[in-house]
Amino acid sequence: MELHTLTIDQARQHLADKKISSVELTQAFLDRIFAHDERIGAFITVDADLAISQAKAADARISAGRQATFTGIPVALKDLLCTKGVKTTCASKILDNFVPQYDATVVEKLKSEDAVLIGKTNLDEFAMGSSTENSSIKLTRNPWNTDHVPGGSSGGSAAAVAAGFCSGALGTDTGGSIRQPASHCGVVGLKPTYGRVSRYGLVSYGSSLDQIGPITRDVTDAAMMMNLICGNDPKDSTSARNEVPDFSAGLDLFRKEGLKGMVAGIPKEFSNVEGIDPEVAAMFDSAKNILTDLGVEIREVSLPHTEYVVAAYYIIAPCEASANLARFDGVRFGFRDHSADDLIDMYKRTKSTGFGLEVQRRIIIGTYALSAGYYDAYYGRASQVRALIMQDFDKAFDTCDIILSPVAPTPAFRIGENTEDPLTMYLTDIFTLSANMAGVPGISVPAALSGKGLPIGIQMMAKRFDELSLIRAGFGFEQSVGAATGFKAAFPEL
Ligand code: GLN
Repeated sequence: MELHTLTIDQARQHLADKKISSVELTQAFLDRIFAHDERIGAFITVDADLAISQAKAADARISAGRQATFTGIPVALKDLLCTKGVKTTCASKILDNFVPQYDATVVEKLKSEDAVLIGKTNLDEFAMGSSTENSSIKLTRNPWNTDHVPGGSSGGSAAAVAAGFCSGALGTDTGGSIRQPASHCGVVGLKPTYGRVSRYGLVSYGSSLDQIGPITRDVTDAAMMMNLICGNDPKDSTSARNEVPDFSAGLDLFRKEGLKGMVAGIPKEFSNVEGIDPEVAAMFDSAKNILTDLGVEIREVSLPHTEYVVAAYYIIAPCEASANLARFDGVRFGFRDHSADDLIDMYKRTKSTGFGLEVQRRIIIGTYALSAGYYDAYYGRASQVRALIMQDFDKAFDTCDIILSPVAPTPAFRIGENTEDPLTMYLTDIFTLSANMAGVPGISVPAALSGKGLPIGIQMMAKRFDELSLIRAGFGFEQSVGAATGFKAAFPEL
């Protein structure tokens, strides 16, 4: 049995049947990491001893007949999630030796089931980016073609799942950072509704936009991970009190009823987006056909403020980032520049050396846009646009259950291709940003391979708190895409 190819659901079953142990499973992933991660660069930290000791504890728990869903399952965590006693760098020099005193709520939940935390994955510094090239620690390469980026900012998590380095992973999504790297690496990524998952212990980037979510091999695993991580948390005042359904019910719904009666909206404004790769357009057409064959009614909808999404997001996110990152001042956390003569000079030197260029750019944009006299013109205005974007979604969802779009305009680009021009990089987020602006959930499901062998995903979005529809439709799509197009979400050759 090739242990690294098992999904979470399969591994859980094999553990229950005592066909494998968690130590064997964990060791298989560690062997693969040691053999291949030097080239892929998915991980910032791997503590093999810790992982094996957690696997042993899981095996003991299974022997005692107390297996929970994630008991013994090796999971990777984006290195923006606080892990007690394990370095959490945010891929930044300013935190390169920061060891948190506590676990993020999602990490606590994984630990409560005795999951194995196999390692911390690479990201764009503080999650600012779309390619993982903004990491101050290392480069991550796309396992499907190592000349290409894995996407970002959760590029390490997506690459780790795609390469078979872990059973599943957690990422975070402020403007697409779960869905886009999942799409580029041929895996499933789900951004939950804002507030669905506690942000406690997630190092904040844009607090009103950030969400933690699963990156997994398939939709079944995404549902299982959602069952674990969702729910109200008194430690996060923005965490929602809505009831948490059994997300696996979405799978059963498809098995029982297919997708009959579902309506998928396609925003007409998305056809005006420039620079869509022909292979992405072709994928989108065949995806529509697959869904139609499954009984979905396709309808045109309108999101009239689409053209302002990128501009408004790239004001709101940097504004919130500038406030959130003020705490990294050389006094309270991590790195301090000791060459300064006085306090102000120490702040300046610490931040100039500790933060990478993209982070500095965002802090400066955010601070400027929030400063007296400019607040109304920028942050205030962008927030008004955001309210309109939310209304657009509310209206669109009056006439459809899910909204379909590509995840990104192109398959994964080449390393270095977009680094010279931040604006070009920002524009590649056009399809993913609006879900964060509106707070709605979105899923990315593998849909095709490009002629060059790079994965292309499709995005589905739903009403706030209706992840069930995404799981149902995503699962249906996943079941049918292979038969319809010959596409198979496989493992890349490493
Ligand atoms: N690419 C977007 C940005 O740079 C989104 C990143 C994210 O979702 N964390 O802000």
